[in-house]
Amino acid sequence: MSGRQTDIIHPVNEPVLGYLPGSAERAALKAELIRLREQAIEIPLIIGGREIHTGETGECRIPHDHRHLLGTYRRAGESHAHLAIDAAAHAAPGWAQTRWEDRLAVFQKAAELISGPYRMQLNAATILAQGKGVFQAEIDAVCELADFLRLNAHYAARIYRQQPISTPGERNQLEYRPLEGFVLAVSPFNFTAIAGNLAAAPAMLGNTVIWKPASAAVYSAHLLMQIFQEAGLPDGVINFLPGSGSAIAATALKDPALAGVHFTGSTTVFQSIWQTVGRHITRYRNYPRIVGETGGKDFVMLHPSADRRAAVTALVRGAFEYQGQKCSAASRAYIPQSLWESVRGDLTSAMRDIKMGSPEDLSTFVNAVIDRSAFDKITGILDDVKHHPDARILAGGGGDASEGYFIEPTLIQADQPDFRTMVEEIFGPVLTVFVYPDEAYEDTLKLCDETSIYGLTGAVFARDRQAITAARRILVNAAGNFYINDKPTGAVVGQQPFGGARASGTNDKAGSMLNLYRWLSPRTIKENFNPPLNYRYPLMEQP
Ligand code: NAD
Repeated sequence: MSGRQTDIIHPVNEPVLGYLPGSAERAALKAELIRLREQAIEIPLIIGGREIHTGETGECRIPHDHRHLLGTYRRAGESHAHLAIDAAAHAAPGWAQTRWEDRLAVFQKAAELISGPYRMQLNAATILAQGKGVFQAEIDAVCELADFLRLNAHYAARIYRQQPISTPGERNQLEYRPLEGFVLAVSPFNFTAIAGNLAAAPAMLGNTVIWKPASAAVYSAHLLMQIFQEAGLPDGVINFLPGSGSAIAATALKDPALAGVHFTGSTTVFQSIWQTVGRHITRYRNYPRIVGETGGKDFVMLHPSADRRAAVTALVRGAFEYQGQKCSAASRAYIPQSLWESVRGDLTSAMRDIKMGSPEDLSTFVNAVIDRSAFDKITGILDDVKHHPDARILAGGGGDASEGYFIEPTLIQADQPDFRTMVEEIFGPVLTVFVYPDEAYEDTLKLCDETSIYGLTGAVFARDRQAITAARRILVNAAGNFYINDKPTGAVVGQQPFGGARASGTNDKAGSMLNLYRWLSPRTIKENFNPPLNYRYPLMEQP
């Protein structure tokens, strides 16, 4: 089970394809988009390897063309959650006893399927059902997910090889057991890669999993589940359970066999999960491991010495790519007075140039937000801003949900640093700026640190080294991923391990060894080849 020396070579990151006009991949992707549009699929629950077609249904619709139905999925109820817990328990002993090299090989194979034969289908599914542009889909659904699987296999192999020292006459071993019980993986809508990794990472370490995907991402999650099965995942190791999060959680979080929760999503949902686990703490066989990556209010701080063009480009990409629906999206910026006029001019002119529309048209930069409730929430906030004396909308501010849930990229200037849109996570294409007096740079760093409850990502733009040093020091706890002269989004697995603290999560850094350790419960084994035969110690002898 542990300690074998099979080598897993250090993987390289999956290369990102360019989809340039005339390229083969562009033609293949366009054909795949048409193919998926032409069929409406039925998505079952998958429990113990069995497809289950009973229960309520939900719909998979295209955010930028919401009249189009891509598929219908089954929604799990309480009885299905019980079935999944049983299936996970049934599969657990066999999976735990499978050689770790063989377990990891299933996911290494899945990475090859994702980056090979399923590349276009997974991209097209993410573009259509989650409304991602082509580049955003490629770096997420294919590259990041293949990286998660390959690098986690590499890191897991390194963990399994770590053994304690042994002394002459005795042997010490660490047996890297999986947790005793099942892991509940609950995934968000916005990253296909994160969804796959939330289910896969605990399974790679020998755990069995109940996977509750987000309703708006069931379409791509189902394809991933099929890919895991094709890669050789045994029945019951991951059980696919779309449906109401609160209903599934109500059953799974009360079960004595709950061994862990692997969550990514909003802070409020994560806190409610933690509270439920706390309330039931006396029921469990083990203390459940709780790992959660949650919301952000990610900042970009410009120093007067900043390269203005680099900063503006970072703001446009950081705030508006994928409609700001990234936990890492730049959503508040601090601009020195001396740069404000020029930054404002460059930003608003870039924003006028942005093309909004269907991601199936590769010339668009901004697409639709995920669903009606996101649209209503974001436009509600913008309406509030329009009537508020402490802020004004400098660009954008409009929305139209007649065909798709489109919200214009929006720039707000706030007069108060604690104005609502400088503090709350909006999760839409909305950037708020606060202009500060140049001489108040360090005070503004402190302000940035204290303004939000989150601590996920942030960036500083400066040429002045002392300014960079001050930002690193003062913002030490303000971001788990801190960028210098770069946008705060786009972390790459293996290069910038991702996650934040404060209200942004447990900072267990998905796609790194730190995360994998959470899914292990090591057993220490000491074997003595020469056990003592007499209880008395030599020093006890009389002289
Ligand atoms: P969400 O919290 O609405 O949903 C996440 C998942 O939780 C979904 O599967 C949902 O069905 C489920 N859920 C909802 N209520 C539940 C309940 N009561 N009990 C159990 N499960 C429940 O989040 P979302 O809208 O899918 O994703 C956006 C959020 O995710 C944002 O806040 C974003 O910042 C965060 N996010 C964070 C990271 C990160 O790495 N820090 C990455 C991606 C997204």
